[in-house]
Amino acid sequence: MTTKPTNPFFRPSTLPYELPPFADIREEHYLPAFERGMAEQLAEAEAIAQSAEPPTYRNTIVALERSGALLRRVANVFFNQASSDTNEAVQAVEAEISPRLAAHEDAIHLNAALYGRVSALYESREGLGLDAESLRLLERYHTRFERAGARLPIEGQRRLRELNAEIATASTAFEQNLFADTNAAALVLDSADELAGLSADAIAAAAENGRVLGHDGKYVLSLNNFSNQFELGSLDNREVRKRLLDASLGRGLAGNGELAGRLARLRAERAALLGYDSHAAYVVADQTAKTTEAVTAMLSRLVPPAVANAEREAAALKAVSGTGEIAAHDWAYYSEKVRKAEYDIDAAVMRPYFELDRVLKDGVFFAAGQVYGLSFTERPDLTAYHPDVRVFEVGNADGSPLGLFLGDFYARASKRRGAWMDSLVDQSALLGQRPVVVNNLNIAKPASGEPTLLTFTEVNTLFHEFGHALHGLFSEVTHPFFSGTKVPRDFVEYPSQVNEMWAVWPDVLANYAKHHETGEPMPADLVARMEAADRFGQGFRTVEYLAAALLDWAWHTIPAGTDPGDAEAFEAAALKRAGLAVPAIPPRYRSTYFAHVFAHGYSAGYYSYIWSEVLDADTVEWFKERGGMRRENGDVFRRELLSKGGSTDSLAAFAAFRGRAPEIGPLLARRGLG
Ligand SMILES: [Zn+2]
Repeated sequence: MTTKPTNPFFRPSTLPYELPPFADIREEHYLPAFERGMAEQLAEAEAIAQSAEPPTYRNTIVALERSGALLRRVANVFFNQASSDTNEAVQAVEAEISPRLAAHEDAIHLNAALYGRVSALYESREGLGLDAESLRLLERYHTRFERAGARLPIEGQRRLRELNAEIATASTAFEQNLFADTNAAALVLDSADELAGLSADAIAAAAENGRVLGHDGKYVLSLNNFSNQFELGSLDNREVRKRLLDASLGRGLAGNGELAGRLARLRAERAALLGYDSHAAYVVADQTAKTTEAVTAMLSRLVPPAVANAEREAAALKAVSGTGEIAAHDWAYYSEKVRKAEYDIDAAVMRPYFELDRVLKDGVFFAAGQVYGLSFTERPDLTAYHPDVRVFEVGNADGSPLGLFLGDFYARASKRRGAWMDSLVDQSALLGQRPVVVNNLNIAKPASGEPTLLTFTEVNTLFHEFGHALHGLFSEVTHPFFSGTKVPRDFVEYPSQVNEMWAVWPDVLANYAKHHETGEPMPADLVARMEAADRFGQGFRTVEYLAAALLDWAWHTIPAGTDPGDAEAFEAAALKRAGLAVPAIPPRYRSTYFAHVFAHGYSAGYYSYIWSEVLDADTVEWFKERGGMRRENGDVFRRELLSKGGSTDSLAAFAAFRGRAPEIGPLLARRGLG
């Protein structure tokens, strides 16, 4: 007889930085750990609610902060795996647990006795002698309970619980449909001839991809998450370009259109129940934007100049193509031709200068060393959740330990598309925890023995996601509620976008952009031409982004009781109304594969990227005014901004750092929208 090993989630990890014990974690551990974790937290919450002692900050707010330790451990690991290495068993757990987690949250936030204690403390907050972070925590808890419906009458709360469960279930279904459909829609080609225009290593990678996916001897182009697929810039065969784009644009049409409409309806009803005109109004009330009018004004101001830019670009494309018409599947292809003709830039010539390991160590890590004094030590002795994941220990300039950084860079069939950062352990002084963060990308794995060569877009993504990682790593807060990236959604893309500046900073670029075979640095004039060529695409990029942002906005500003009807028709009407019905530029995401807003928590939040970019562009100016890549500058940015997490008002933190409110000028200049 053997004794059953204990569930590894039941105890805190004993590994360095409380890295989850991935070597011991099995799929069958998840559900029992979720169940016990929810039961434990409910018991803790109930004990707080029913305490005979009068409410104090410590026995109520701090006690809530400490509750749910097991649930946090399992949820952080589980949702990371559900995104980056899923399978049928994980999907089954996800479908089962999502509505139950929503119900669990409701059970805490709709606990009247608990809300009574939070509310009593809130009313007497000025007399409690709290420090600034604690006072803010109390205020945030109060807001959270109210926004979760704590003040609704019983009947309203009953309906709210139903809505939350339905929304959770529909979001998970959207995500899982999209995952299956994105894999199924990969383009399978019989001969290498059809891939003419792609580089030799990209063709080899497509063959390797075919082998891995069970299409031996064929060539498979897996889809990335955007509408516009990377290969469209170089595929010479127009018919293949069209098939690839059609496969991309058609994702999710069976099923997700209906789910998008259902989610929009349910969210609108929930917002009305909570006293808001629309889901968007409910969301932005708790963001730095505050009102839907502010967001609408910002987005609509950018539309006309962005469309004008795109039209100028279209004219250049028509000239180089020699045709009168540019279709959506031609745009990227002729853009590459313009880049070549006007700027002498050829994506295929550039990739050999961007080898993954070099970009990571001599680029991303090097910049973090120069700006913040960080050091990185690879820890192959620490086991991650997949053999491709690399673990690095991060240290401060004075040698003190900071946290762990996990890099999961390669695409695989079990990973969702896109790039993102996740937190496996949230920094907090209260719980004595240091940060463990992970970056996920979707870089095509090369044929074995071949180097991993990146496009410049992928280089930029590596820097971007590492900006989120720094936000998590530099967190220096007391309460887990405020840890790292737990800031308003329309602020969270700010630090990540700032970190992109180092990708093209001359000293950084010179350090990493070296030919993978010869070690030759990238020619200086190539760098300058690359930057000029990059500006050429701003019209396209801004239009496709604004189209997606305004689509999200259209879905989530409908009033309760509206039936959005057929998703494709709704989408077409929304784009027309926004002045963005540019046929040759599809939205960056169409509704049926817009996972950001229908599955990943960015509903009524896709505007955040350009909203945050105002702060980003303004901050890049700040660095430049002060000599750029200097430790003094990095230290100020880290201290005043990156270390704060959500512990202070985000715009106040920006103003303290910048010495004034944000200005939009640098953004307009950067995007050619002046
Ligand atoms: Zn980001």
